[in-house]
Amino acid sequence: MTSSHSHQHSQQSAIPFNKPYLIGNEIAYIREAVESGKISGNGMFTQKCHHFFESTYHFPKVLLTSSCTDALEMAAILTNVGAGDEVIMPSYTFVSTANAFVLRGAKIIFADSNALEPNIDAEQIAALITPRTKAIVVVHYAGVACDMQPIMDLANKHGIWVVEDAAQAIDSFYYDRPLGGIGHLAAFSFHETKNIISGEGGMLVVNDPQLLKRSEIIWEKGTNRSAFFRGEVDKYGWVDVGSSFLPAETIAAFLYAQLEKLDIIQTKRKQIWETYYQNLQPLAQQGYFRLPHLPHYATNNAHMFYLVFPDLEQRTHFITQLRLHDIHAVFHYLSLHKSPFYSPHHNPQRTLVNCDHYADCLVRLPMFYELNDNQQQYIIEQIQQIYSTIN
Ligand SMILES: *Cc1c(COP(=O)(O)O)cnc(C)c1O
Repeated sequence: MTSSHSHQHSQQSAIPFNKPYLIGNEIAYIREAVESGKISGNGMFTQKCHHFFESTYHFPKVLLTSSCTDALEMAAILTNVGAGDEVIMPSYTFVSTANAFVLRGAKIIFADSNALEPNIDAEQIAALITPRTKAIVVVHYAGVACDMQPIMDLANKHGIWVVEDAAQAIDSFYYDRPLGGIGHLAAFSFHETKNIISGEGGMLVVNDPQLLKRSEIIWEKGTNRSAFFRGEVDKYGWVDVGSSFLPAETIAAFLYAQLEKLDIIQTKRKQIWETYYQNLQPLAQQGYFRLPHLPHYATNNAHMFYLVFPDLEQRTHFITQLRLHDIHAVFHYLSLHKSPFYSPHHNPQRTLVNCDHYADCLVRLPMFYELNDNQQQYIIEQIQQIYSTIN
């Protein structure tokens, strides 16, 4: 792109950070669900979604949930995390990763991110393990795999559960293994900001065979209703704790329509991602910001396109300049170990410098299925404009 094109798109309307979209059969399938006479959970579309994941990624068992938050709460129940137990996780993550375990009374031991990318620094985990450590929760940030092999080895050596927060990680891999299929449990999200959406929505993956039976019971309000409908027991009743974690069939119908088009959605998102990467490389080489880093063991599922600035002031300047041109770039997460809720429980001697750096310096560019070429070129030109006077 040359600077002579810079003012071509002055009539551009506002570009949001995210935009939900329909890919095909969503409305038709919702209608079909309603007309079938059943829109509560665990009906035909829920089964179709389960089958999709179990056959596409060979996950042993999956259960749709109303959110990834719900799936994480199920993971906390299934791992029997309770008062006095410690759970290790990155501080640079969404609050639900931590809340699910705090709700069970656990103490969260926050770990730092890598210097090159925001995932948990696998090498720091060993030093945080104590006799009270019950689980390690990894977050595949931006759909980029954490370094799972050393983490699984460490966890197995100490008899600790591993839960993957795979909220952003659909259709992404660690070497040739699908994310969500490596830890004992994993949680996905279909929130409207993710690659595949259903408004609110999520899924628990149960990889550990010991947890299969109980996962269904917790999902169905602490009853053995699923076993009853399979004819395995002759009556169903209250057999454990649980809650109402199932989504309605209308949600599953929407989700199934998206899953059918997963490849088309992913191809488009990867194109958008590559276009950002290629066009912003010259500015990155001049040192204005860093582009996303992909470790050799990780694939890119194009969940997110982020930039990392040298400091907070430069990030604020960037976001403000884009806002002036009606482009909505956003930042996240605030370090959880410094949050008003959790900072009293975090040892202040343990500074997490990489986490704090991403909290101050990372920004996400607009990224959604319907982002068109004109809009993306406009965004890239406006970014080039910010630095054109400096050169
Ligand atoms: C989106 C997200 C969640 C929460 O997902 P919901 O479906 O909104 O509950 C949890 N963890 C991470 C890392 C996320 O990105």
